[in-house]
Amino acid sequence: MYDAIVIGAGIMGSATAYYLAKAGASTLVLEQFPRGHTFGSSHGDSRIIRLIYEKQFYTELMKYAYAEWQDLEKEAGKDLLFTTGSVIIGPEGHEYLHDMRVSLDAAGVESEWWNQQQLSDHFPQFKIGDGVDVLWQKDTGLLHASACVLTYLKLAETHGAEVREDTPVIEIDWQGTQSEVITKGERFRAKKVIVTAGGWTGYLLNELNLPLTVTRQQVVYYQPTDANLFQRGRFPIFLDVTWNEVLYGFPVFGGEGVKIARHGMGQPVSPDTCNRNPDPAYIEHIRSFLRERIPDAAGKALFAQVCLYTETPDEDFIIDTHPDCANLVLATGFSGHGFKFASLVGRMLSEMALEGITDFDISPFQLGRFEK
Ligand SMILES: Cc1cc2nc3c(=O)[nH]c(=O)nc-3n(C[C@H](O)[C@H](O)[C@H](O)COP(=O)(O)OP(=O)(O)OC[C@H]3O[C@@H](n4cnc5c(N)ncnc54)[C@H](O)[C@@H]3O)c2cc1C
Repeated sequence: MYDAIVIGAGIMGSATAYYLAKAGASTLVLEQFPRGHTFGSSHGDSRIIRLIYEKQFYTELMKYAYAEWQDLEKEAGKDLLFTTGSVIIGPEGHEYLHDMRVSLDAAGVESEWWNQQQLSDHFPQFKIGDGVDVLWQKDTGLLHASACVLTYLKLAETHGAEVREDTPVIEIDWQGTQSEVITKGERFRAKKVIVTAGGWTGYLLNELNLPLTVTRQQVVYYQPTDANLFQRGRFPIFLDVTWNEVLYGFPVFGGEGVKIARHGMGQPVSPDTCNRNPDPAYIEHIRSFLRERIPDAAGKALFAQVCLYTETPDEDFIIDTHPDCANLVLATGFSGHGFKFASLVGRMLSEMALEGITDFDISPFQLGRFEK
């Protein structure tokens, strides 16, 4: 009998296990693959962390999430968050940039509009012409993603959690007073069950008919003409919405390549049968953007990787208690922008499981919004 069972050890489950174990709860983590695997959403070197959001409630939550990541770094004794600053680039007067600025101002977060000359002065790697707006925000950075997952799991174990890898959960029996989690050949009982199963959540909680679409996403690492030009400190994180799609990229981190990708627009897939081989046409599409915008990064593709988004219709998360079972908490639907929040989501889920309530405002993430 455990206080809590966490199903899924991506970034959300790993963070949750850490907070539960640290609070003294006997915690079991069940993960269907080996830890650090590459079949879900949390693998790879880097994820963007930023305060910039069009919806202010995300910016407000991110203030807490940053602090939690910094606390994790202190406890782990290692750097996981690297500040780079960011530029958001878009056509003059673009609603997306405008809404981000309004949200940042309302949240009391500093940002700056830059003109073409200011962008060239700071980051000559970008080639932009007239009629383009640039929004600079200094606190943006990257999280060393795979290291964050492993660090949370290791610290969870240090605080007493048990992590079982290669252990798929087949069923959750939540009808009784205590929930039972069933794997191939074993049954585990717990006072609380937390489902953080990413793109597989719909299968485990079939009865909820969750409005989730799992999509296939790709990231590519391009060889720059000179890697020094793209080191942290010399090149920022960027998002570019100029061509009716959101393209984003990172400075060089953990290798030689400049990581570039398109946000969203991936085809719906099953997480179990998704094609894991990157598409040559996608790699070429991104390279054509680079040739125009960042020509020094438009070299050969060194490496490419497939990853999954689990999307909700409004792209807001789902963080809630099961409507028919107070002992079951779920968090999914992170819609391609959840990683940066994991430090806070882990804390929220742990509080919801142990105290029945969290201090943070999770009203935008309630399941009930889909019934309206
Ligand atoms: C290409 C890409 C780029 C992204 N960029 C950013 C970014 O820059 N910034 C940002 O904030 N976010 C970003 N995201 C989103 C972020 O990475 C995800 O929101 C986050 O990783 C979701 O984590 P998760 O734990 O919910 O899911 P997952 O990482 O998929 O974890 C779910 C886990 O549950 C396990 N599981 C599932 N079913 C079972 C079962 N039955 N039994 C046992 N285990 C099970 C799975 O094996 C998996 O390990 C990006 C995502 C992708 C794909």
